[in-house]
Amino acid sequence: MAGETPVAQVTIKGGMPPAPELLRLKARYVFPIAGPPLADGLVTIRGERIESIGPATRSSSRGLAGNVVDLGNAALLPGLVNAHTHLEASDLPAPLGEANMAFPQWIRRVIEYRAGGTFDAQASIVQGLAECVRCGTTTLGEIAVAPWTEATASSAQIDVVAFLELMGLSEQVAQSQLNLAREYLREPSSLAGEGSARGQRFRRGLSPHAPYTAGLTLVAGTVELARSADVPVAMHLAESPDELEFLATGAGPIRTLLEDRGKWLPDAVRPGAGPLEYLRLLAAAPRSLVIHGNYLDDEEIAFVAAHAARMSVVYCPRTHAYFGHGRHPLARLLHAGANVCLGTDSRGSNPDLSLLEEMRFVARHFPELPPPRVLGLGTCNGAQALGFETAGMHAVGTIGVGQGADLMAVALPDRDEPDPHLLVLDSELPAIATWVQGRRVA
Ligand SMILES: [Zn+2]
Repeated sequence: MAGETPVAQVTIKGGMPPAPELLRLKARYVFPIAGPPLADGLVTIRGERIESIGPATRSSSRGLAGNVVDLGNAALLPGLVNAHTHLEASDLPAPLGEANMAFPQWIRRVIEYRAGGTFDAQASIVQGLAECVRCGTTTLGEIAVAPWTEATASSAQIDVVAFLELMGLSEQVAQSQLNLAREYLREPSSLAGEGSARGQRFRRGLSPHAPYTAGLTLVAGTVELARSADVPVAMHLAESPDELEFLATGAGPIRTLLEDRGKWLPDAVRPGAGPLEYLRLLAAAPRSLVIHGNYLDDEEIAFVAAHAARMSVVYCPRTHAYFGHGRHPLARLLHAGANVCLGTDSRGSNPDLSLLEEMRFVARHFPELPPPRVLGLGTCNGAQALGFETAGMHAVGTIGVGQGADLMAVALPDRDEPDPHLLVLDSELPAIATWVQGRRVA
């Protein structure tokens, strides 16, 4: 059905083409996110910026100059924000292992995969970036196992915050990881976009991996570095019952995994510890992302909510479902006032990198959430989590006058809905176009 949707074709021949001087996008609905949807909407883009948003009335359409793209039965949204992924696994045709497998068993499969002879991290990252663009994502929170090469960063047409992954339970390894992190933050800013007209399309962050791989020394040291360099920190936390058991008692399948790999240290965790101890450390970072938060308790949810201006939870809905976890505390987090956004996580635990499909999954499984709230999770909430501006040229996650024109379009079904949000969310139709700074990139 999607292939039948009439969309004006814009051909791009290699690299980033210049933005058209004037581009008008007309669609059945425009969702600015910051306000209600507009039926029969028109977004005018001059160069890289949005010049106006309004109804495509006959009078305003009369005598339109410039390039007009009539998207037809489609919705125009801000480019989506995928706040958590690991693009290195983007070449996987299907998730590793099988649904409902124990999390430590899956980690073993990831280790095997990374050690495999055919693994090409850079090619996989490039493949993942292309998939993100096709799916309408224009801003990405990426966990980078190794610092991105300049070539990879230059090839990214979208905003990327690349969080360097740090692991180390011992004092000695923690110090060497912190040295790596210092170097990463000091690298010259010749990478893609830095200093370009739009500004920083490539930003750096740090990621102490998880409580069972990054000890308290490494987490605290990372937060200190992040403060001095003013960069965000992302950490997997409260992801599985095995992690909680490990934190509380130092025992269980995660300890066995560490022992098997020769990484176990008797003082790796403090007996009786829990996610709250890590949340307190992360709260000192300029901005922090709690990845997953599947098993946050009421006290931890209250803590995250109390720090909502600078701390966010990234829920990865279909990855969460893949592991058969207990119900995610999404509704409780939102009710408490926490900022929650969405991520796909990697293709190691998810069938694809479509943030649109994550929002649809949330709409199906949390019918109590108002549909505008669900669209907010994949747009403005993600922008806030990653530290993008909410106004001006660099604003992300909304469609607003004066902002950079990062947009995506999705085909709509041939039916009416009292709430037009459901045309986007209660549908299987795909993304059909993506624009970055007024340039069509997919
Ligand atoms: Zn992850």
